[in-house]
Amino acid sequence: MRTIRTVAEMRAYVAAARRDSRSVGLVPTMGAFHAGHHSLMRAARERCDEVVVWLFVNPRQFEEANDLAAYPRDEVRDAAEAAELGVDVLFAPAVDEVYPPGFGTSVHVDGLSDVLEGAERGVSHFTGVCTVVTKMLNMVTPDLAFFGQKDAQQVAVLRRMVRDLNVPVELAVLPTVREPDGLALSSRNVRLSPDERRRATALSRALHAAEAAVGAGERDAGAIGAAARAAMGDVEPEYLALVDPDSFQPVQNLNGRVLVAVAARIGEVRLIDNTLIHKAS
Ligand code: AMP
Repeated sequence: MRTIRTVAEMRAYVAAARRDSRSVGLVPTMGAFHAGHHSLMRAARERCDEVVVWLFVNPRQFEEANDLAAYPRDEVRDAAEAAELGVDVLFAPAVDEVYPPGFGTSVHVDGLSDVLEGAERGVSHFTGVCTVVTKMLNMVTPDLAFFGQKDAQQVAVLRRMVRDLNVPVELAVLPTVREPDGLALSSRNVRLSPDERRRATALSRALHAAEAAVGAGERDAGAIGAAARAAMGDVEPEYLALVDPDSFQPVQNLNGRVLVAVAARIGEVRLIDNTLIHKAS
């Protein structure tokens, strides 16, 4: 596996792959790999001739300086894991390579960026995500880019952006990988104390309770939300919402697909999770 730091070298690598008609898959990450990242890399390895993993802790999508400072980083371990999984290139540019002095452009998706995660973290969050993903897609020009359902709103925003801007890439979305007790894997989980780690299962418990309520025939979003909230015990959600998975607008009655999305702070650590309920009618 090769580690690339510059856009010029990345472009040269992809140009050579294109000359040989080799397909290129891209896995965008902020590092501190876990089994969720591994599953994206495995999927890319299966579907593409060349697999590029983007490793960049994007300062523009963090609204809190201490969250950015505390974000776990271990490139040496990440590189070893990516190599083990058959990744061809770890593309890990420095901040100045991505945002050179004078950088002044941003990409913003209206509407979708303003609710739930956008409302809690500030609209600059998804603007930061869209801007860096646009740049990354232009640097690597992949055929396929792999994302996790764990960040469901990010997927919806990026799908809209790719459609609106006619970006020539296919997005592949992989299911959320979980711990045996249901906690969704996240790079932030390492910051949980043992007690917080136990309390963190409140998010997945809420989602299970929502699924169980729907399974038992409940169709009223308020009642399903109340059942989910009750399952969280003393963990107060930042939001717990039943929304349309494409528009992220609230649903009142279940009739089709619905996304149950939850966010909560456990101590200092902000966690999110979601489940897509298909058979709602
Ligand atoms: P991150 O490094 O946290 O920005 O995540 C990089 C990619 O991995 C994103 O597309 C995430 O949605 C995805 N991802 C994060 N956690 C999980 C998980 N538990 N299961 C599957 N994918 C995940």
